[in-house]
Amino acid sequence: MSVPSCVASCGQRDRRQHPPSNVLYYIHCVKGDKVVQADSLNEEVQTDMALEQESALANAQKQFDIAADKLQLDPGLRRILRVPQREFTVTFPVKMDDGRIETFVGHRVHHNITRGPAKGGIRYHPGVTLDDVRALSMWMTWKCATVSIPYGGAKGAVVVDPRTLSPSELERLTRRYTSEISILIGPDRDIPAPDVGTNAQIMAWIMDTYSMHSGHTVPAVVTGKPINIGGSYGRQEATARGLSYVLREAAEVLSFPIAGARIAVQGFGNVGGTCARLLEEMGATIVAVSDSKGGIYRRSGLPLAAVAEHKARSGTVADFPEADRVTNAELLELPCDILVPAALNTQITARNADRIRARIIGEAANGPTTPEADSILYDRGIFVIPDILAGAGGVTVSYFEWVQGLQEFFWTEREVNAQLERVMAGAFHQVLRTAHEQRVHMRTAAYLLAVSKVAESTRIRGIYP
Ligand code: NAD
Repeated sequence: MSVPSCVASCGQRDRRQHPPSNVLYYIHCVKGDKVVQADSLNEEVQTDMALEQESALANAQKQFDIAADKLQLDPGLRRILRVPQREFTVTFPVKMDDGRIETFVGHRVHHNITRGPAKGGIRYHPGVTLDDVRALSMWMTWKCATVSIPYGGAKGAVVVDPRTLSPSELERLTRRYTSEISILIGPDRDIPAPDVGTNAQIMAWIMDTYSMHSGHTVPAVVTGKPINIGGSYGRQEATARGLSYVLREAAEVLSFPIAGARIAVQGFGNVGGTCARLLEEMGATIVAVSDSKGGIYRRSGLPLAAVAEHKARSGTVADFPEADRVTNAELLELPCDILVPAALNTQITARNADRIRARIIGEAANGPTTPEADSILYDRGIFVIPDILAGAGGVTVSYFEWVQGLQEFFWTEREVNAQLERVMAGAFHQVLRTAHEQRVHMRTAAYLLAVSKVAESTRIRGIYP
């Protein structure tokens, strides 16, 4: 058995050398191009960690490989960019309201920081895995590069269902997780933001905890904060608004107006719910929406305000009375002009891609479509706006928030939205041009642009000895 060499940020070559603590270090070790958990170095090293056929990480790496092949990327660069640079896993205690002590597992992964500080959301979800966080951190690198935002890619997560915690338990969990990952985060180093299961209040607690440790207020350590502590106008809606801009551009390219288009949205959360509202404001008809409990469909269009009110009251859209019930799987296959997956990854796969009936898929979620499904959709003429472009509005306005915080000079909502529109529409047409020139689908086009930008930055900076 050969032990892979370790290129961990802490510089140690063996897990046994790491400082004892309640923190588990998972270190970026490379053998060939496989990531190995350094914690297992005392045991039989698993050099052939079989990745699940459709795991988010396997899909992220396949998408990268397609672009790397087309770019004929140098094998050394390819090995660097195919895996995260830095991975950190923490196990930490939280005192529950009834006095019990529970332990939770969290992660923070930096995929690549060549183009700027690490940037990426924090997810609270009971099913989230380290592989998911690795994939999500990769997608953040490509997303920032696609819209030319000077950030690297990161992602964080805690394995928890936040709905099972009281507000005070949620606050204690957030503050302790922040403290555990505080050696990584900072306004010049790594700037978290909201993702599934987290929100502006959670960002406020992260900002406050980091600031307490620093002895002064550090607003630029997170984005997606409430406005009155340094958040940006337009951030809350930015992912959905950015998506609505690229959907408008795509509909124009396909010669049908958004006004009157029929829309189905999987995941009626922050992004999906807002996107449905914005598209309705543009004249579209929302025919279906869903959340984790199931979906609803009405051919003539859902009364969106009433659905949102029902969700706020009962916690789900699934039992909204004036519509037909559908499962999340059925929603994806409904007849519509635009399908917006805005929930979790790996929803459109080789198993259902040939039954999708939308003309455009606007990927708000990260990684909703597998590479196998991409080929099927492309062959069927379905226009997919990939996540690293379609979902980039959030990180774009996060970047604006960070810039405003560092300069302590704040913009109006109109200024934020105008700059967002410029970035999103510009990136959309750049990706579209590349897709036409290279005769590839929009995802590969976006990857060609993003991977070449990051690879070129790495080449210019050089490899530090
Ligand atoms: P959110 O937690 O506000 O909403 C997620 C929604 O998905 C909820 O309605 C939830 O009930 C639903 N959901 C969960 N599991 C589901 C399942 N198995 N099937 C169907 N629906 C399910 O999260 P969000 O911030 O709206 O993020 C949604 C997606 O957009 C995620 O993939 C996230 O990574 C991506 N994204 C978010 C942002 C952002 O700024 N918040 C930015 C870019 C991408």
